[in-house]
Amino acid sequence: MTDTEKKILDLRATLKYHSDRYYNDDAPEIEDYEYDMMMRELKALEKAHPEYDSPDSPTKRVGGKADNTFASVAHTVRMESLQDAFSEQEIYDFDKRVRDAVNAPHYVVEPKIDGLSVSLEYVNGVFSRGSTRGDGDTGEDVSGNLRVIRNIPLKLNKNIPFIEVRGEVYMPKKSFDRVVDRQLIAGEKPFKNPRNAAAGSLRQKDSEVTATRGLDIFVFNVQQVEGAEFTSHKQSLDFLKELGFNTIPFYKRVDSIDEAFAEVEHIGEQRGNLEFDIDGAVIKVDDFDDRELLGSTSKFPKWAVAFKYPPEEKQTKLIDIEIAVGRTGVLTPTAVLEPVHLAGTTVSRATLHNQDFINEKNVNIGDIVTVRKAGDIIPEVRCVNEKHSDGSFIYPTVCPSCGEEVVREEGEAAIRCVNPECPAQLLRNLIHFCSRDAMDIEGLGPSIIETFVNEGMISKITDIYRLDEAEIATLEGFKETSANNIVTSVEKSKANDLGKLLFALGIRHIGAKAAKLLSDELKDIDAVMNATAEDILQIDGFGTIMADSVVDFFKKQGSRELVSELKELGVNTKSLNVITDTRFEGMTFVLTGTLPNYKRSEASKIIEGFGGKTSSSVSKKTTYVLSGESSGSKLDKANALGIPVIGEAEFEEMIK
Ligand code: NAD
Repeated sequence: MTDTEKKILDLRATLKYHSDRYYNDDAPEIEDYEYDMMMRELKALEKAHPEYDSPDSPTKRVGGKADNTFASVAHTVRMESLQDAFSEQEIYDFDKRVRDAVNAPHYVVEPKIDGLSVSLEYVNGVFSRGSTRGDGDTGEDVSGNLRVIRNIPLKLNKNIPFIEVRGEVYMPKKSFDRVVDRQLIAGEKPFKNPRNAAAGSLRQKDSEVTATRGLDIFVFNVQQVEGAEFTSHKQSLDFLKELGFNTIPFYKRVDSIDEAFAEVEHIGEQRGNLEFDIDGAVIKVDDFDDRELLGSTSKFPKWAVAFKYPPEEKQTKLIDIEIAVGRTGVLTPTAVLEPVHLAGTTVSRATLHNQDFINEKNVNIGDIVTVRKAGDIIPEVRCVNEKHSDGSFIYPTVCPSCGEEVVREEGEAAIRCVNPECPAQLLRNLIHFCSRDAMDIEGLGPSIIETFVNEGMISKITDIYRLDEAEIATLEGFKETSANNIVTSVEKSKANDLGKLLFALGIRHIGAKAAKLLSDELKDIDAVMNATAEDILQIDGFGTIMADSVVDFFKKQGSRELVSELKELGVNTKSLNVITDTRFEGMTFVLTGTLPNYKRSEASKIIEGFGGKTSSSVSKKTTYVLSGESSGSKLDKANALGIPVIGEAEFEEMIK
């Protein structure tokens, strides 16, 4: 194999790998610019060496392959990609090719929205189907998810027989910030940029999830239409506006390529100030007859070109490195810079990712560095140009927020603070504490907790048990009943099993199941706190990482103080899996129908707690049938066998 052939095969494999990450996982590992540059190199090599050409080269394919999550949709009109240009010269070359085929072309210039392409179909003015671009020929039917995007009209202003339009679904920067915030709180891996977030959100199985993501759309093309006719792109965009679509913003018709390029530059200058991400500007031939003459290649139309803004880079001085503690406890370093103007915004901060990144770049305070702002919103320190310091910056060994020692787990790049009372992690810990598998405090969901924290009503975990009903009721959006419900469920949570409390404490590596095991085996929180790693290792299913994590957690003064405060507040710290009151011993209950105040699982737990058993079918051995509303055949059987049937009120009497 020749070196050239090897290079071509390498590039194809690398591009294929990154294309899968980008289109299928919505999680790119490299910047678009790097991807585009590799693609260019491959195109140039294939052109110079046609002997190595291959029909499945990434240079000939559009987008990614669809999986089986959604039904597939064959596009009647192919959803093409765009040829790209990275310099003024390439724009003039494009104009020359156009003018070789048509006379005095007019152009329309539009921003190139960084989202994902969709087709929307309307029959008699009513939205009938929407799909993704997929590989251009076949996309996925995501109608349900598109319906929840507010700016997609479900009914058009005019009742035309049929129209298919193409647009770009995107996530506004504001929605992106909110979504990422929520992901971080929930301990999920956050989306890298708004484009990937939009793609990931549109391909959700549950459209209720899509609805929470704040997606939007700009429509930029008529793919096919019946009942209307236009001769130019500009006319068609005006028509789309009349129909009620959110059309591509500030599109402009110009008379020459000079004007077109000036417009491209103008859009580029505004880039940083827009509410949405753009990765370029598109120049399109306006006249439809001219487009017809120009035609398409297998991948893109010859009548349009996308100018992609290259990432901007500038040199500046790194004045300081700030360490912030995220809500997940991870310490993240940010470079404070002497402000520079970059891609339409003033940049005075840039990310340094983590200690490994800092070491790799050998960067420290005082150095002159290059900062780059690519499609993504957060600028990054690319390299050091002049070294004015000794070695690379070293992370502090204690948390800048609470002063507790920080830890770096083996095999992890992140350094984190694991103190549960660290103020920087408070919100996340509170949300976890109240969640269903933890203390299961109904009514105290993420947004309400956030409100209470902002109102100064909760500043540490134990404050949950000090919430005042009257004070909650004074807050906007709360009524007496909702305040009462919250306080009642807080009260109810005090009686939880120790397993739930241990899980709620958020000990690293201890999931709900492990917490229950700890509780069942050691019975009391004092025994858990005083256990050695060896003691814990005796429990079936526990390994050293988990055992050490429990010991480390309770070594901390903060953890011990938290437990003693919780005890004082009346929170149960013992396992409920100890039978002392055996009033139901030897009895078997069958539960049927819906009980007004207890879930079936709750009632079963109570019965088992008193030494009784539950069974799913009625037989002669059944002692009682506990029956709620709308119970059916089990009740008939109980009556037939003469088994006593009790309701919730009698049950409550029995468990008093
Ligand atoms: P493209 O993004 O370069 O251009 C075509 C797309 O632009 C169309 O599908 C359309 O939806 C969109 N568009 C937005 N506004 C438009 C407008 N006003 N008019 C017309 N179209 C508009 O091409 P592509 O094939 O969608 O994607 C390839 C690009 O994806 C690459 O250039 C690269 O930047 C990126 N990519 C990155 C990685 C990575 O790992 N970072 C991997 C694969 C692809």
